[in-house]
Amino acid sequence: MDLFEYQARDLFEKHGVPVLGGAVAETPREARAAAERLLPQGGGRVVIKAQVKTGGRGKAGGVKLASSAEEAEEVAGQILGMDIKGHTVHRVMIAPAAAIEEEYYFSVLLDRANRTYLAMASREGGMEIEQLAVEKPQALARIAVDALEGIDEAKAREITEQGGFPAEVADQVQAAVQKLWEVFVGEDATLVEVNPLVTTADGRVVALDGKVTLDGNAAYRHPEHAALEDTAATDPLEAKAKAKGLNYVKLDGEVGIIGNGAGLVMSTLDVVAYAGEAHGGVRPANFLDIGGGASAEVMANGLEIILGDPSVRSVFVNVFGGITACDAVANGIVQAFGLLRERGDEISHPLVVRLDGNNAQEGRRILTEADLPLLEQVDTMDGAAERAAELAAASAAPPVAAK
Ligand code: GDP
Ligand code: MN
Repeated sequence: MDLFEYQARDLFEKHGVPVLGGAVAETPREARAAAERLLPQGGGRVVIKAQVKTGGRGKAGGVKLASSAEEAEEVAGQILGMDIKGHTVHRVMIAPAAAIEEEYYFSVLLDRANRTYLAMASREGGMEIEQLAVEKPQALARIAVDALEGIDEAKAREITEQGGFPAEVADQVQAAVQKLWEVFVGEDATLVEVNPLVTTADGRVVALDGKVTLDGNAAYRHPEHAALEDTAATDPLEAKAKAKGLNYVKLDGEVGIIGNGAGLVMSTLDVVAYAGEAHGGVRPANFLDIGGGASAEVMANGLEIILGDPSVRSVFVNVFGGITACDAVANGIVQAFGLLRERGDEISHPLVVRLDGNNAQEGRRILTEADLPLLEQVDTMDGAAERAAELAAASAAPPVAAK
């Protein structure tokens, strides 16, 4: 999960990284009130910064200074609602303006290729790191960080030396990068980036921007991180699926997909997209992996989410029986129909089921005997994909070709 700058700032503060005060505003009025409070700390100036999860906000006009509360209100009005690289600005951060002397770059990240952590540092910060890496690769130091040793005093010294930091600020930068390592480890991040890390006119080193990516696999260790999620940006169906513990990703097509196993579901998306080409370009509507087990409850929840997607015109249930055999899955499907009927969510679109693998014959027999409305079986994956695409294309509005 990527964080907004203001959230990164809060985590920095929590771990003792030097930052400036910051307030978040969703309206120009709120920005004005925050500016009134923060102007004195910024020597009569505040900075108003678009909160979007993308870089280059400065260049796009999403970072502006203001010298009065009125001006802050006006500038916030310009920035709020702005589109930056496809991200709409819903919030701004107001901070006391820093009198910047120099801008540096520092980051620490998970280096998968080398199976280690990597710190990157440069005396020449401010510009985007991708640009710096291309234009001045010699100015960007890359220092491997051992997972067990981390950024200790010696490593911090290596970072300021390799990064070419001025001697006057070396101590402060070393202290800051050690704290940033504490953020990285303490919060279970895969990326902590500060661009720019600055020295101010009064000789202080401060993190002026922050980018943090948290490791979702460690979420169970940080219940407090759940509050950092941008729920407004989450698709409502995805949020509902998540609440039911389902592994669901909304896509743009018309064929709902349920499968067991992430790999099988991904190949199902491919075969459906391919089959759809011959049927007016229908495509998969979602990714949904119900995993092993495939109980009636999970199957019913999956169908409920998929049928709640107004774009869906047909559903393809693709199951390869393994430890959970096809007869158990078939019984799950039969019971799911019953559960949905009880909930008042009756199956409203054709359902194509392909059962293969362990106990496929028995599973198919169970479904045939149950004679469920709108359900048909096709024994091969390609054949079932073809049929699901055909049914999606054949069903009435909205016209799929118009997409
Ligand atoms: P980004 O463009 O999305 O990376 O946003 P940043 O937060 O890094 O801001 C972009 C640039 O705006 C920085 O590199 C600074 O030059 C400038 N900037 C940001 N905050 C301040 C501030 O408090 N005072 C001054 N003078 N400039 C700032
Ligand atoms: Mn930046």
